[in-house]
Amino acid sequence: MIVEMRRGATAVEIDAVVARAHHYGFETQLNVGTDKVVVAVLGSETGRTPTDVFAILDGVESVTRIMRPYKLASLDFKPEPTQVRIGEAVVGGPRIVVMAGPCSIESAEILMSTARFVSKHGATVIRGGAFKPRTSPFSFQGLGNEGLQILGAMRSELGLPVVSEITDPHQLDEIVEHVDVLQIGARNMQNYALLRAVGQSSKPCVLKRGLAATVTEWLQAADYVLAGGNAQVILCERGIRTFEDSTRFTLDISAIGVVKRNSHLPVIVDPSHAAGHYALVPTLARAAVAAGADGLIVEVHPDPANALSDGLQSLSFANFARLMEELRPLASAIGRSI
Ligand code: PEP
Ligand code: MN
Repeated sequence: MIVEMRRGATAVEIDAVVARAHHYGFETQLNVGTDKVVVAVLGSETGRTPTDVFAILDGVESVTRIMRPYKLASLDFKPEPTQVRIGEAVVGGPRIVVMAGPCSIESAEILMSTARFVSKHGATVIRGGAFKPRTSPFSFQGLGNEGLQILGAMRSELGLPVVSEITDPHQLDEIVEHVDVLQIGARNMQNYALLRAVGQSSKPCVLKRGLAATVTEWLQAADYVLAGGNAQVILCERGIRTFEDSTRFTLDISAIGVVKRNSHLPVIVDPSHAAGHYALVPTLARAAVAAGADGLIVEVHPDPANALSDGLQSLSFANFARLMEELRPLASAIGRSI
């Protein structure tokens, strides 16, 4: 249930709404907007409570039941778009944010040269996985803590913010020392212990869409992070499983519009994991920008043929530079920059 306060409602009036919600055994979360406060009343039993118990209180403008299964991620709770700041970059602002780097951290040299190149060409956040969730236990699993050290060293030397995947809540203390953004991978979108752990953290998070998750389930997963008090969630569409097998996954371009219609959270696109092949990455990246994505996260490697993971879908330096040039006029055509 959403309780919208009147413009200028006092703190005492807001507190009374919160107290009444607690009296009924519900939890609350406040969205303090530019001109009004919205109180989300959360609990599985809100459906049985009449809206009047809140509507009658002083300072209340309206009370609405949210029939959607997600609440905190919904536009009803927070009508203004969320912007997530990462260093100089603002995801959800007018400028499209490009995050780029290798799939996994393989060595300091590879990470450093990639970070230097992609940042020179317009990427403002560097990606690189230390903990890799691989489909096969026999595939390269990432360098783990050693990878984090390499990432941290590059971050301090070049002053560039980094995004890296967390696969287990136990990694949280170590990982937050070295990264600016926590990535929750597609395979972990419904790992509720992990979502709760990231919800407790003060770091922004990139929440990838599960390979077989609906947009609704994805936004419910976002609710887990938001409910923990972490408001800095960036959604990432990375392709879903369909019957089509000529790409690794099917990029769901509609998801960008569906998210924008229903949620205040920014949404970025990962064309690399959807495409599965470097030759298709530009097509998907251009489509994402044209469709209104707030950013891209792209795999780039200095020598894709010898990458330890996802080489086939990684852009070489030359291909990344070309893509960035192609994206600029597209971004300006829709009133944005890159
Ligand atoms: C990745 O970003 O390298 C990754 C494993 O992505 P996803 O979780 O989308 O498969
Ligand atoms: Mn990858």
